[in-house]
Amino acid sequence: MRSYLDHNATSPLRPEARDAMLAALALPGNASSVHAEGRAARMMVEDAREKVAALAGCPPRQVVFTGGGTEANVTALSPDWLTGDGPGRLFVSAIEHASVIRGGRFALNEVETLPVDSNGVIDLDAAREAFASWHKISGGAPFLVSLMLANNETGAVQPVAQMAERVHEFGGLLHSDAVQALGKLRVEELAAGADLISVSAHKFGGPKGAGALIVKREGLPVAAMLRGGGQERGYRAGTENIAAIAGFGAAAELSLAGWDQIEALRDRLEAQVAEIASGLTVFSQDAPRLPNTSCLAVAGLAAETLLIGLDLEGIAVSAGSACSSGKVARSHVLDAMGVGPELGAGAIRVSLGWSTTENDIERFIAAWTRLYGKFAERRQAA
Ligand code: PLP
Repeated sequence: MRSYLDHNATSPLRPEARDAMLAALALPGNASSVHAEGRAARMMVEDAREKVAALAGCPPRQVVFTGGGTEANVTALSPDWLTGDGPGRLFVSAIEHASVIRGGRFALNEVETLPVDSNGVIDLDAAREAFASWHKISGGAPFLVSLMLANNETGAVQPVAQMAERVHEFGGLLHSDAVQALGKLRVEELAAGADLISVSAHKFGGPKGAGALIVKREGLPVAAMLRGGGQERGYRAGTENIAAIAGFGAAAELSLAGWDQIEALRDRLEAQVAEIASGLTVFSQDAPRLPNTSCLAVAGLAAETLLIGLDLEGIAVSAGSACSSGKVARSHVLDAMGVGPELGAGAIRVSLGWSTTENDIERFIAAWTRLYGKFAERRQAA
């Protein structure tokens, strides 16, 4: 038996989501067809839309299904005014996911990065100044801002609702990547005022390759990436992946419960590890955080050594962000927080989820203690 503690990379599929997917796979119809088979498929899609909307706290009509969080982000960051001749600006926080940092369809020289503080939380004053300056220089040209609701590496929760006020003050639009937050936090409260919100199924027990862009109003300048059959109200053409959507809905229905216990397990892990290693740093500990995430480091104890040692003991964690490359690279998130290279190179991310047990946490603490003990011996001998 392994202990899987990498839920921010992806969370194992919940059995209920798997069952819903298998039932959907047995349906022969296309959700756009008018016959009985088509209507049965349509019902599955609309049922899932209601469940995702209930979890996100929005009307079902606002949920546009996509092929995942990346697609939702890139769609949000490709407003239709970009096809015009006029100037435009995209502001992104320095800690965004790669799919936001790349700036969608914006040219790289149209993307401006907004700073975060040492806790990895956006600097709202600096952001407001940047919007005011753009408004003045451009004579009120359009701009879009992207601020994630919770960071995938540290778990730091961002003040999205406060950001919305500052963005709207200057006539801009706000997008929030809530991929790590949906299912764990009350998105509708924390991201109140955001115009566009991205979510993904596989971070809380749904299937990989299913997500949604929540479009909060009619008339927002969202340009579809995929044009064709007019599915998803024209925002995302293509025959719906009914099985993935059904799995997304089933996982959504289950996901707001259980986080208090998960948070207690995360806190226990941090407290015990801190007791063993006096020089432990827990990143973003002084900020509001996701209940399931712990990003920690001891200077000099390399993340790669820990990762491999833990893996050999049957425990899966990751170093920094494992979302894309599969290799241990410098974290742009820790860099933006001003974390030095030695400490940054030791950062591992432990992320818990629906399948985590007390036993997983005890096992992690025991393994970490052994690996830290070897490191401390080597350090003393040197
Ligand atoms: N945004 C964040 C914050 C993420 O952690 C991820 C993780 O993969 C994504 C976006 C991309 O979502 P997806 O894997 O569904 O494309």
